[in-house]
Amino acid sequence: DQEGDDVRSYNYRELHDAVCQLANGLKSLGIKKGDVVTIYMPMIPEATISMLACARIGAIHSVVFAGFSPEALAGRIEDCHSKTIITADEGLRGGKAVPLKANVDAAIEICPPETIDNVIVVKHTNNSDVNWVDDRDCCYHSLTNDQAKECQPEEMSAEDPLFILYTSGSTGKPKGVLHTTGGYLVYASLTHQTVFNYRDDDIYWCMADVGWITGHSYVVYGPLSNGVTMVLYEGVPSYPDTARMARIIDKHQINTVYTSPTAIRSLMAHGDAAVENCKLDSVKLLGTVGEPINPEAWRWFYDKFGSSRCPIVDTWWQTETGGILITPLPGATDLKPGSATRPFFGVQPALLDNDGNEIHGEGSGNLVIKDSWPGQMRSIYGDHQRFIDTYFSTFEGYYFSSDGAQRDDDGYYWITGRVDDVLNVSGHRMGTAEIESALVAHPAVAESAVVGFPHEIKGEGIYIYVTLNSGQQSSDEMISEMKQWLRKEIGPIATPDVIQWTLDLPKTRSGKIMRRILRKIAASEYDSLGDISTLADPNVVKQLIADHQTLTGA
Ligand code: AMP
Repeated sequence: DQEGDDVRSYNYRELHDAVCQLANGLKSLGIKKGDVVTIYMPMIPEATISMLACARIGAIHSVVFAGFSPEALAGRIEDCHSKTIITADEGLRGGKAVPLKANVDAAIEICPPETIDNVIVVKHTNNSDVNWVDDRDCCYHSLTNDQAKECQPEEMSAEDPLFILYTSGSTGKPKGVLHTTGGYLVYASLTHQTVFNYRDDDIYWCMADVGWITGHSYVVYGPLSNGVTMVLYEGVPSYPDTARMARIIDKHQINTVYTSPTAIRSLMAHGDAAVENCKLDSVKLLGTVGEPINPEAWRWFYDKFGSSRCPIVDTWWQTETGGILITPLPGATDLKPGSATRPFFGVQPALLDNDGNEIHGEGSGNLVIKDSWPGQMRSIYGDHQRFIDTYFSTFEGYYFSSDGAQRDDDGYYWITGRVDDVLNVSGHRMGTAEIESALVAHPAVAESAVVGFPHEIKGEGIYIYVTLNSGQQSSDEMISEMKQWLRKEIGPIATPDVIQWTLDLPKTRSGKIMRRILRKIAASEYDSLGDISTLADPNVVKQLIADHQTLTGA
């Protein structure tokens, strides 16, 4: 279903044929087991088909969210030595066309010469104006139309790579999280079947984009391996109006809806308009993922979309975990709004204090997992040591999630958010270091610090403190310049909500920026700044607070 009302449907035979035809097309271009194929696509069936065609021939797919900029795409192409890109002429989002092919062309310009051999382009909006490089670009349908509808699947070991998916961490460039064939599929399939209590005549809709892990595990691999009838949707849930999501549910008689707290809050802001003239009587089960859900949004979703009777599964997991780790099982687990409840079968979470001591019973601490599970990532592509350092070194012998959590006296887990310098903006992970290094690459910027602050819709907003080089003037134009710069360097998801100019940042005597203080100021929590006596110049704080008050009108 596009943003208009166009519907395309596939049965499993047709999907199989389309996957084999593309698989044969890829082979005809010389792509083989172990090669990395970048997929930069809108939410159209060809995105799923591309992922499955790669899997069929043993090629490793690396899907890059179509909202990332050419710069971000280029970094991800270079890191995994991908030589092939599958894309579309354009995507559609909120009534606007997203120039995907033009972004691909720009990304290739940024990569070293000869990086990319083939660009396969789906003519989706049929914009004939896209630039074409004859011996590099080919039309998806010309490549596939005459191919055989059978393609023998490549024999794979359970531990052969299936895909790479880039995600942000607290330091350095985004990491290529590597998942393998056997365990990942077992885990995506089992969790999908169990957590969504899948029955043969159900109709399922996961609203995530294939550019994120939820799109991999619960749009593509989990549901398709279980033979699900499902809806794929290109667009945003609130366009052309806020009742769009509810109308789609009615139109296709959807039983299971899996979405994000941000989507729920953005609809909730419009109240009953989000469900106006809709029955929603087909709904049996609701699910959320990506960020903590506040109880108010939980209740609203439960009442309006679930007719105050359908369970909500609040599922906690990560790109790294491959599938859901903490979740209610519908009908079996008593729900508490705002809690992801209890671990899935075989998963052993624990809470540790900062010294690595396990906390028993009620308490809060760092969320770790004690033992492996089938869907666990196997490495960071090209840097196995970084994998060990990032996940297994903070607390020896445990997988460290970098999330904090609280456990109540019923043994229920309440995720409190990241404990590292990673923001969760609308359920999307953004490394503060990544945004900072993009900012300091701007010629006018001397220094910057990025923190999150509570945001009513997005969960967390992006708050940026910037020191300009001497001779540079802060101004409204400079604010739009900074926003544009981050959109270009990373993508629209990195657009800051607030920019505060400052002559100085709060630093310790050894020069380390004290983010804790910056987070508190951004959240207007001036009374709980903690000890500031270790700062090189405690006066900086007074000025920052005064400027924050002016900026926010507090
Ligand atoms: P990603 O790898 O992009 O899916 O992001 C994973 C992060 O999202 C986790 O580390 C959590 O901080 C957050 N997250 C995911 N699901 C939930 C949830 N159900 N409740 C709270 N936070 C969540």
